[in-house]
Amino acid sequence: MSRRLRKEFEGIELFAFDGDGVIYRGAELLPGAEEALTFLNNNFKVVIITNNSTTTTDARRLKLEKLGINLTNDQIISSASATATYLAKTRPQAKKIWVIGEQGLRYELAKKGFIILNEELGKLEPINTVQHSCDLVVVGMDRKLTYDRLAIGCRFIRQGAEYIATNVDQTFPIESGVLPGAGSMIAALSACVGKQPAIILGKPESLMYEQAMEETAISAEKSAFFGDRLETDILGANRSKMTSVLVYGGIASKEDLAKTDDPCMFPDIELQSLLDIFDHS
Ligand SMILES: [Mg+2]
Repeated sequence: MSRRLRKEFEGIELFAFDGDGVIYRGAELLPGAEEALTFLNNNFKVVIITNNSTTTTDARRLKLEKLGINLTNDQIISSASATATYLAKTRPQAKKIWVIGEQGLRYELAKKGFIILNEELGKLEPINTVQHSCDLVVVGMDRKLTYDRLAIGCRFIRQGAEYIATNVDQTFPIESGVLPGAGSMIAALSACVGKQPAIILGKPESLMYEQAMEETAISAEKSAFFGDRLETDILGANRSKMTSVLVYGGIASKEDLAKTDDPCMFPDIELQSLLDIFDHS
């Protein structure tokens, strides 16, 4: 069957997507995702942009592959890989990083050549940080967060390390409700150091959207971003001047949109599901 895109997507060459709530929910593929992604990937540039820093790009690619969506690692940008790419480019002098975060974040940073102090120093006592140098403290969601890990991060920042955050999502939605997100770890660290992160990579900041456009060499006028959250996905896409597309079936509902009075959170296009990227006439 030959497929045609809806008129609104004429001229779009980069199709960028949020993962959870747009393509899948947990281990389940959402309606239209496979058809849409397969068609788009055969004809245009496709990139996934996710705020989740806990898993590696490899693991996310494999998860998508199991769901029937075949992408390459360089088509997946997570706040972990984006942070590593950004720091390697903008902080060439920085070597040593203390990580408050999970394996995905540590792996992506190590891949760019950074020394992960958590591994280097073994069981460092917070009191002993003064004997060591640290260039950056990078914070993401950490489901194994301990008092010591937080305390060491706090001390390194107070000793002069730069404070970087992958993303600031306060909560992490799961099927039965919400858990603390990276923003909750950042709130704890910020309380101790008395300041906010110098840089935040994740949506709604524009850095990840810009990385996607830069890596594909496609401008914002020819780029669209599909997301399910107004305050991250849509706000970030609008800030980045991409065409913003709200897909229902995830977080935001029509009622949420009706209640919003911030024009920066209004999507350019609304879709019931990803099947609606196609012209049904
Ligand atoms: Mg989402």
